[in-house]
Order: sequence, then C-alpha cells, then structure tokens
Amino acid sequence: MKHKVLIANRGEIAVRIIRALKELGMETVAVYAKADHDSLHVKLADQAICIGEAASKDSYLNMNQVLSAAVATGCHAIHPGYGFLSENPDFVDMVESCGIKFIGPKASSIKLAGDKAMARKAAKKANIPIVEGSEDTVRDVEEGLKIAKVIGYPVMIKATSGGGGRGISIARSAKEFKDVYNRTSLEAESNFGNPFLYVEKFIEAPRHVEIQILADQHGHVIHLYERDCSMQRRNQKMLEETPSPFISDAVRHKLGLAAVRLAKAIQYENAGTVEFLVDPKGDFYFIEMNTRIQVEHPITEMVTGIDLVKEQIRIAFGKELTIKQRDVKPKGHAIECRINAEDPLNGFIPTPGKITNVLFPGGFGVRLDTHIYPGYEVPPYYDSLLAKLIVYAPTRLEAIRRMRVALEQFIIEGIKTNIEYQYLIMHNPDFIKGQYDTGFIERFNHLVKDVEDE
Ligand code: ADP
Ligand code: ADP
Ligand code: MG
Repeated sequence: MKHKVLIANRGEIAVRIIRALKELGMETVAVYAKADHDSLHVKLADQAICIGEAASKDSYLNMNQVLSAAVATGCHAIHPGYGFLSENPDFVDMVESCGIKFIGPKASSIKLAGDKAMARKAAKKANIPIVEGSEDTVRDVEEGLKIAKVIGYPVMIKATSGGGGRGISIARSAKEFKDVYNRTSLEAESNFGNPFLYVEKFIEAPRHVEIQILADQHGHVIHLYERDCSMQRRNQKMLEETPSPFISDAVRHKLGLAAVRLAKAIQYENAGTVEFLVDPKGDFYFIEMNTRIQVEHPITEMVTGIDLVKEQIRIAFGKELTIKQRDVKPKGHAIECRINAEDPLNGFIPTPGKITNVLFPGGFGVRLDTHIYPGYEVPPYYDSLLAKLIVYAPTRLEAIRRMRVALEQFIIEGIKTNIEYQYLIMHNPDFIKGQYDTGFIERFNHLVKDVEDE
C-alpha cells in the first residue's frame, strides 16, 4: 500500500516536505488557506484541500480543519513542518486518536520541551548548564523583580511558550522591569495564548549554537553536530552556518553529548534541536529545545549528507536509525541566507506584494529552497521568508565566495528583499573572520545606514 501524507504547512517548507515524500514514493496532500490558492505547494502536491480563510487561526492553525482534510483524503500521517501546529501537543493527541501518525515527537515530549520553563528544569536535571534565572515561570512582577535583583541586570524576560524571536524582552534596570514585564506578558498572551513568563540573566555578546539530534522509536539517539545561528535580527535568525567558526572541538564535543543526554532524558523521538548560548569564554548554557524540523536544517544536510526530512518520516513510520553516531562525519562548510520580503533599512518591516520577475542562482554547491516564482503574490498574512539560499564548499572562505556570487545572481523584482543586505554581510571583515555575536546586526545596521546617508 502506498503511504499518503498530509503536509500541514505552507511556503518553502511545504515544498521541501513534498519533495522528500515523493522521493520516498509516498502520496502527498497539501492544505491551503484561500490566500494561498496560487501557492507552489498547492500545485506540487498530488491533492490539495482548501482549509479556510487567510488568517492562520482560520486555516493553518485550525486543528479541526486540518485533521478533517487528513481523514477525508485517507492520509496515514501528517507532517507539521515548523511553526503553526508543529509544537502543539493537543494537535498530536487529536491526530493520533484518529489513527494517523504525527511526524514528530510524542505529545508528552512536546509538552515538556515546548514549554521553555519546563525544558529548563529538564535540562538542569540532566546536568546541563542553564542560564541563571527563575526556577519556573514567575507568579507576578514582584516575584520577577526579586529574581532579577538576585541575578543582576540586565535580564531577559521570556514567554514560556514564545518562539520565532517573539515574546523575549530585555530589562536593563529595576526601573524599567515592570513595564517590560507587562508588555511582554500581553504580547505572549496575544501571540501564543499563554501569558506566563520567566526571567533569565542576559548573556553579553553570546553566540547561538544549536545541536541537531535524531532519535528513533527504538531508543537510538544521535546528534548531527552544530549550527551557528548568531547572525540574528530581533532575536530571530537571518543567516546560519556550520561548522561554527567560534567554538573549539572540546566545546563541540560537550554540546553534542549534552544534547543527546537531554533527548534521552525526556525520551525524545524524531528530529529535534537543542539550542545553547555560548559566552565569549566558551562556557555554554541551554536556552530551549525545538521539537520539530528547523528552518536552517539544510546546512546540516549539506555537511552530513543526511536528509533530515526523510529521516523524520522514516522514524515516524517506526524504522530504526540506519546511521550510527560514529558514521556522522561532517565535511566541508555550509552557509544559509534567509531571503525575506522585508526592508532591512526600515526596521525589517515586511514588504509583501507581487513578485513581477525572479531569477534564481544555481551551480555547483548551490541549493535553493523556495516557493516563489515569477508572478507570485507574497501574501501579507504569514512570515516573510521567501527562500533559503544554501551554499556548500570545502572551506568557509570558499563558501563565502560562493554565497556572494549566488546572491549577486539572485534577482527578485517587484518587492523589497534583504538580498543586498546579506551580500553586504558577506563582505564584512568581522563576518569573514568569523568574529560576530548575536549583537552583530544591530551594530552593522548603523554602519550600513551611515553609508546610505553619505
Ligand atoms: P527556527 O526556530 O526554525 O530557526 P524561526 O525562529 O524563524 O526558525 O521560526 C520558524 C517559524 O516558526 C516562524 O514562522 C516562527 O514565527 C514560527 N514559530 C516558531 N516558534 C513558534 C511558537 N512557539 N509559536 C508560534 N510560532 C512559532
Ligand atoms: P525563540 O523561541 O524565539 O527562538 P530563544 O529562547 O531561542 O527564543 O531565544 C532567541 C534568541 O534570543 C537567542 O538566539 C539569543 O540571541 C537571544 N537570547 C535568548 N535568551 C538570551 C539570554 N538569556 N541572553 C542573551 N540573549 C538571549
Ligand atoms: Mg530559539
């Protein structure tokens, strides 16, 4: 019998998943909001079902609609992609109660790891260093203030269910704590339906280094080394690379072991990512675990040769991991630039609209994951990611050179994008030396703006 899988997502990741399913000889069912009628994933899937109006809550986040589409088309499994329903344990329970496989971890692991305050506790219990902060979510402003006083300012105030860089704020003094706290709580409530916050020390000039893991249903857990995602705007990643130009082999080794330990401790299954901050001294701290495929997964695929989405699907269908830890031998260097419909010089505001023309880069070692095409209208309702440009080369410098050429030959007409901005980063001396932390873009923006003003 041919397996049939519903893709509960849109954009580039839906296209990515459809490709993997087709290569595995499986049938594909796309779901789409009315605003996505002309989207590429709708055209590429074997079947496509409209699940509602443009707003995510009326379509991609509507659990009943998504599940009905899967039942009506006789699907055996659902791949959630990232964002939307990918980290929603209630959805997993609903899917499984209909006898359909969820391509991701068990609901219980998502409950544990998807809640950031709970994940901190689990990491601590597994002997993994966490950022100093509250034991749990804080009850109110007063409790938050007390904790901040003990750990010292600046502190991060973070939503326990936050994601995509939202629901995180910095409080630099006791004076501003209350306002920041209340604002973040409101933002968390409206974005994630959960107002609960925790408090954490602000790590100065950190690197964001995360470990990809794979775990099957038979107790095997492996890690696929790290991705450096320190290039961020507003706490959201913009460019990722592997290996990290910053960490030592000793730190690399310790991070891998820590990530596997955490996955085992929570009996994790499927693909997942354990995120850490590494301070300038090389000390590392767990920040969160993402219980899904990640946007930047392709760079790991390029250096390891392992197709992460196919592994996810195989694992969900009960297959054992065919790769052993000792067989994971990353080779070369990979960089990903997120190409967004946004205006970097204007606060990165989204720039939806019609793409009148587009020319894609290509060639040896160049990969493009995207859903755009000439004439495609970028809807204003979803996130601004248009494409992921990934390059692979034997060394970091060759990868940078390859990325420059690819960016030069990537033309999108009709809307503003961050292509030129990424091109400028590829020429920045600090980036070229691999000397950058999560504050790079804020500093770089001033530089670029000053040049523009001259
Ligand atoms: P990644 O974590 O894979 O590196 P992002 O942080 O950019 O990438 O998140 C990917 C997508 O998932 C974005 O559209 C983001 O808004 C969404 N997302 C991530 N976490 C959450 C969450 N907890 N709730 C809702 N959406 C989320
Ligand atoms: P999200 O769920 O939105 O991905 P994370 O907890 O992973 O949230 O944090 C996103 C980014 O915010 C990190 O990569 C880092 O740049 C910044 N950040 C988070 N916590 C801290 C901290 N305690 N100190 C300094 N920066 C932090
Ligand atoms: Mg994160």
